[in-house]
Amino acid sequence: MAPASPLRLRLDTQALAANWRALDRLSGPARAGAAVKADAYGLGAALAVPVLAKAGCRDWFVAHWGEVADVLAYVPAAAIAVLHGPLDQADVAYARATGVRPVLNSLPQVARWLAGGGGPCHVMVDTGINRLGLALADLGDPLVGQLEIDLCLSHLASADEDCAQNAQQLARFAEVRARVPAQRYSLANSAGIALGAAFHADLTRPGIALYGGVVRRELAGVVQQVARPEAAVLQVRDLEAGDAVGYNATFVAPRAMRLAVVALGYADGYLRCWSNRGALACGDAVLPVVGRVSMDLTAIDVSTAPHVREGDWLALEYDLPHAAQQSGLSQYELLTLFHRRFARCT
Ligand SMILES: *Cc1c(COP(=O)(O)O)cnc(C)c1O
Repeated sequence: MAPASPLRLRLDTQALAANWRALDRLSGPARAGAAVKADAYGLGAALAVPVLAKAGCRDWFVAHWGEVADVLAYVPAAAIAVLHGPLDQADVAYARATGVRPVLNSLPQVARWLAGGGGPCHVMVDTGINRLGLALADLGDPLVGQLEIDLCLSHLASADEDCAQNAQQLARFAEVRARVPAQRYSLANSAGIALGAAFHADLTRPGIALYGGVVRRELAGVVQQVARPEAAVLQVRDLEAGDAVGYNATFVAPRAMRLAVVALGYADGYLRCWSNRGALACGDAVLPVVGRVSMDLTAIDVSTAPHVREGDWLALEYDLPHAAQQSGLSQYELLTLFHRRFARCT
């Protein structure tokens, strides 16, 4: 038996399933899929994918070919889309051997797919984010006409804001729909779902909101927290007034107090921005981080929870919108930062 980790990332499976159902409902007649790239945004695809599949999800998006295996164990190959597309013939061969579908993003990728034998695929068209995707000008290329397109998709750049770019991308997507024959069309990410029915097309692609991210006000009260990180206490110590804590003594005890040192640091994805700012919780007691977060350790003030002992588990305060505001990190970063030192569990 491998020794247990003093860090665990609890996935609230009921909240995850409820979030998918809520986003599917908000998508109206369109179906909601799931972006499960980056190991389901850090939460662990092996835990998240079966929960989402059971909730009703049928369409899956990963970024890298190396992420396919995590998902393929639980869902049909044809339901998995690889967003980065085939970078070489080996990717094409892998897609054809497994039945996983590439998202083709450029004319060279289109040519590569057709040269490898083609078959059902997806096509990304850029409508203004200028990241991946065929340009509108590429759509007349005869190679594009040879594709067997299941999903034609585009991606919104600023759906989390109220700005003119959303309507602009929607108008360009209408042009794409008129010009690219496909089985299904898809435009909206999590925030795009909240922009309303015009953005839903046939399939929506939520990611962050499945995992508890509130990226638009319309999702507040709809989306529940899913990720609940916890860290074990390694040591408890008593300080006197004037004692300093951690590297560079950025905290000095104003009075006698009790500290707990937890097995959590920036190497685990708890970045230094949480120094003298983050908090853990023990029941209802909120326990502030004191001093600098170091690589593997963080000190917290447990004066209000004097019963805390070595080996106790404490929960990080990690409600995503609030944590983002506190830390200056995005809700996406807050999830994808979790290191593999965290044991993923439910
Ligand atoms: C990551 C991603 C999504 C999901 O976006 P969220 O903002 O997390 O909902 C959807 N579509 C594409 C193409 C993506 O890369």
